Amino acid sequence: MEEHKPVDPIEYQPGLKKIRKRRWFLWAIIFAYLPAMMVALDSPNYRARATFVFAVWIVLLIIAVVFACIVRCPRCDECFHTHGPTFLPFRRCLHCALHVNADKRAAEAESPDAKYTNKK
Ligand SMILES: [Zn+2]
Repeated sequence: MEEHKPVDPIEYQPGLKKIRKRRWFLWAIIFAYLPAMMVALDSPNYRARATFVFAVWIVLLIIAVVFACIVRCPRCDECFHTHGPTFLPFRRCLHCALHVNADKRAAEAESPDAKYTNKK
């Protein structure tokens, strides 16, 4: 791991927001499978509907995983969820351990006047 100079985590906010959006998209696709399949199986021509739902779901899942794989960490500029060929959707960067909510935590920890005195 490289050495990092201390930077205000709030500066990572745009990058972390992007990572959070992609994580939400991935989990939403995964959890949408069951309700979508239940609706499909309730219809009279359930075989065709279930096949269609599965085909659409698998395509969306591949898209969601690819987008989550290629999203870059705002601190180390490596892929946030990917280390080599391994995809691990953890809440910390697999390279520099930056937390996905580091910007929110920093905003909570900082008092309103510390914001002006701690600036570099
Ligand atoms: Zn990182």
